[in-house]
Amino acid sequence: MSETSTPSNFIRTLIDGHLADGRYDHVHTRFPPEPNGYLHIGHAKSILLNYGLAQAYGGQFNLRFDDTNPLKEEQEFIDAITADVKWLGGDWEDRLFYASDYFEQLYQWAIQLIKEGKAYVDDLTAEEIRQYRGTLTEPGQNSPYRDRSIEENLDLFERMKQGEFPDGSRVLRAKIDMAAPNMNFRDPVLYRILHAEHPRTGNEWCIYPMYDWAHGQSDSIEGITHSICTLEFEDHRPLYEWFIENLGIYAPQQIEFARLAITYTVMSKRKLRRLVEEGYVNGWDDPRMPTIRGLRRRGYTPETMRNFAETIGVSKANSIVDIELLEHVLRDDLNRRAPRAMGVLRPLKLTITNYPSDAIEEFEVPTHPQDKENDEMRVVPFSREIYIEQDDFMEEPPGKYYRLAPGREVRLLGTYYITCDEVLKDEAGNVLEVRCSYDPESRGGTTPDGRKVKGTIHWVSAAHALDAEVRVYDRLFTQPNPDNVADDEDFTVNLNPNSLEVLTHCKLEPNLETAQVGDSFQFMRQGYFVKDQDSTDGRPVFNLTVGLRDTWAKMQPK
Ligand code: ATP
Ligand code: MG
Repeated sequence: MSETSTPSNFIRTLIDGHLADGRYDHVHTRFPPEPNGYLHIGHAKSILLNYGLAQAYGGQFNLRFDDTNPLKEEQEFIDAITADVKWLGGDWEDRLFYASDYFEQLYQWAIQLIKEGKAYVDDLTAEEIRQYRGTLTEPGQNSPYRDRSIEENLDLFERMKQGEFPDGSRVLRAKIDMAAPNMNFRDPVLYRILHAEHPRTGNEWCIYPMYDWAHGQSDSIEGITHSICTLEFEDHRPLYEWFIENLGIYAPQQIEFARLAITYTVMSKRKLRRLVEEGYVNGWDDPRMPTIRGLRRRGYTPETMRNFAETIGVSKANSIVDIELLEHVLRDDLNRRAPRAMGVLRPLKLTITNYPSDAIEEFEVPTHPQDKENDEMRVVPFSREIYIEQDDFMEEPPGKYYRLAPGREVRLLGTYYITCDEVLKDEAGNVLEVRCSYDPESRGGTTPDGRKVKGTIHWVSAAHALDAEVRVYDRLFTQPNPDNVADDEDFTVNLNPNSLEVLTHCKLEPNLETAQVGDSFQFMRQGYFVKDQDSTDGRPVFNLTVGLRDTWAKMQPK
């Protein structure tokens, strides 16, 4: 799927309308993360959507940090988010902004509202404000401080800014309508007092704008045409429009879409943060995390993410995407580009008794057998002692088990037919080694007598094997909807205790020695694996990206 063929959607239809009726003559979007955590795949969808629209219409895309809450925001997150947006391909050129760039302007606008009698300083406590607010069925009540004079409000707001009052003692509120059916209009708080150091403005400010006061105006300042956000902001749109209208400034158009949710996944920064802080995973970039960092380390590429975003599209209705679909898109991408290799994860020694002990043969095997246009070959060494997968041998095989068993003949991928003659076991009965004989005439996979074998298994030459660690992942949660829990429980009860298995005795074909961190391979018959950053010289670490079995494709009607 190329950019030019991106399918239409309701957002594009709206934009087309705006361009046709002259409301806007260009498209300018933005991605506005709050730097209070690492980005997840839901954010990726938003980035790709916003950046994709800017590209499709020859417009521009801004990256803006919504850094209005100094208590939760950190430089670490700013740096990580910047890198992640870049990795996804989002290009903001020279337009990297911060809501904090606009603190002075937002402050001036607050004064403008006060001077017009549209904002006031309130001394109620947060709890009282909540009580006065009313409910969805009952109107709120006016604060006793609502009718302060403009002069008093200007004076108090100035003194709030000067740091005269403690945190939480006063707020600035818009004076709109305490009986409005839309709760957001019930005199929303615009500023609170917070004596906290900000990652960018330091101690310059001790009053901070609320998100609602900062967001729409920041879009306006940047000349954003289409301010795309998730559905929970639908009820905030009329308030943003009220601010813009009452300030008499440029008006962007907000458009809401359904946030991405995926089965077996939690997708809120707050919950992801708990997983990290409470040690359920090994950091924000743990390959089991749905963070961009985690997915990247797991072997996802920007192309996978783009294909996924295009496959699921955008909609107005909340729904949950099946994780199998994500994995299907991932396999599709990897199948096309990942070179093949052989790797034995749980090794069992196999000796070919009639093969000369000092011989080494080199076999040429295709690296991209799935791609008819790509005839790249690689050489794998073969010798008398090899490793095979433990579960490719069974002493007493059940029906339909076509791999190696006593007396049975199978094909070693790309080389010879072998027959199992003998099984060596320890005192406890564990299989230590299997001894086989090979048919020298079966080189290349056929024999003069044309006999067929049913099983083909992979292998690695023992003397040439690269020792490796492989981390095998399962879903992080055992339930499709991890958030669905009893009142006295939380989502962590649904964590899968077996989501990580570390295999430390893996044997890989020697060609993998030159693999770089981030390179992906298909270990034949096993799945896709990516070289991890924890690799050291001489001891690579690979992560399982995804297995080969495509359950999504199987579920779809033919
Ligand atoms: P979370 O709820 O996960 O903490 P957030 O919405 O608080 O996320 P922000 O940093 O405020 O995080 O989000 C930045 C942008 O990403 C917003 O425009 C928001 O609408 C969008 N976004 C966040 N989560 C999703 C999601 N699951 N699907 C699509 N877009 C999302
Ligand atoms: Mg948010």
